[in-house]
Amino acid sequence: MVRRERVVVVGGGTGGAILANLMPLERYEVTVIEPRRYHYYHPAYIYIAFEGLKLEVKRPVDEVLKPGVNLVRDRAKRIDLDERYVETEGGRRLEYDYLVVAAGARRDYDELPGHKQLVERFGDFHSEENAWRLWRTLTTMREGSFVIMVSHPVQICPPCPLKAAFLASKLFERRGVKDRVRVKLAVPYPHPYPAIAISNIVEPMFEREGVEVVKVFLLEDINLDEKKLIGYGGAELEFDVAVLTPPIKGPDIEFNTDNVLGDDGFIKVDRYTGQMPGYDDAYAIGDAAEIPTAKTGTTAHLMAEVVADRIQGYGSRYDGRTNCALITGEDALFVISSYEHPPVPVRPTRFKRLLTDVFTKAYWRIVKNPAAWRPIIRSYLEATRPDRLGEKGW
Ligand SMILES: Cc1cc2nc3c(=O)[nH]c(=O)nc-3n(C[C@H](O)[C@H](O)[C@H](O)COP(=O)(O)OP(=O)(O)OC[C@H]3O[C@@H](n4cnc5c(N)ncnc54)[C@H](O)[C@@H]3O)c2cc1C
Repeated sequence: MVRRERVVVVGGGTGGAILANLMPLERYEVTVIEPRRYHYYHPAYIYIAFEGLKLEVKRPVDEVLKPGVNLVRDRAKRIDLDERYVETEGGRRLEYDYLVVAAGARRDYDELPGHKQLVERFGDFHSEENAWRLWRTLTTMREGSFVIMVSHPVQICPPCPLKAAFLASKLFERRGVKDRVRVKLAVPYPHPYPAIAISNIVEPMFEREGVEVVKVFLLEDINLDEKKLIGYGGAELEFDVAVLTPPIKGPDIEFNTDNVLGDDGFIKVDRYTGQMPGYDDAYAIGDAAEIPTAKTGTTAHLMAEVVADRIQGYGSRYDGRTNCALITGEDALFVISSYEHPPVPVRPTRFKRLLTDVFTKAYWRIVKNPAAWRPIIRSYLEATRPDRLGEKGW
């Protein structure tokens, strides 16, 4: 009998699970290393924090992986790319023919003194527990300023702080306290969103909504006693409740060589193939990878497809496509871009919010059986290619 080639996947989140579930098990022995009991659907945190929705936010990792994929419940500690093995915290050594690092990004709540206390007090939208805490905070807030601060331009899901601002405003309106609670969105860029096409759409909407956008605010310090956020150059922003996007870092994994580590520990890869420099058997996908596109689930999903293909000998390439949902209330738009095309203008509509909500429901089926959904997703991506939509948008 021919030996199956060993594929070791580090991380059983969106990218890792999709990749593992795409591999044909008659040819490959696939092992996922994941320390957590649950696979989390991160976008659900927004629905919890601002709409109080009880969505299916997590499932046990072994239920998300298809039968036949091995699961090692442990944390990858060190990877030797030359000797081709992964060492785990629990002392296991897993040898591979192909390695895929899909370990996501680490939220660093220690970088800014005071950040942890803010989260303990108010919550945030980066975990299930924090999202429920934020929901409790916002549903009891009666007056003052609610500040959403983008603490660093490199973040997971760049549209999220904007969704948060829109949905917070709608929540205060539903609660009848909108005239007493002021929502402020503070960003480090000169527009509400890094891409001008999206900023041009949302800026007038924020104005109509009464959300104040504080631009070019580069956060330096948090003054908890005086409830002020301090920016470079002495700028100050007072808050009654504040939520910061956490600074992010690459996964906490040691490599036998520094050649694959980029800024803040993200893993250097070829942007089209996901391949680590100098290694044709090692890849990184999703939030863990250092590539010039937004850190989103779409990126993790599409990179997983490309890497699964490449391991099997096909020449697929990732074109940098994103499709991140920006919910603006009852409507939504998508941030659609690729390496070659900056985000195109996309009008917020009810239909797009419906598509977003349908995707949320379909997520668990898509992750479990990505091959079945691939033609549908491919048709959608083809129909909404940024070069096809062009300046007219959608
Ligand atoms: C509030 C919020 C809303 C979002 N909304 C959207 C959206 O609308 N659309 C969209 O496309 N994207 C969205 N995203 C982004 C999306 O969720 C992420 O980009 C996506 O989950 C990245 O997938 P990943 O596989 O790279 O990482 P993850 O899904 O984070 O998975 C990483 C896994 O690796 C594991 N791991 C970490 N370290 C190790 C280790 N050393 N050894 C083994 N395992 C390890 C972790 O436990 C985790 O399970 C949102 C994110 C947030 C926080």
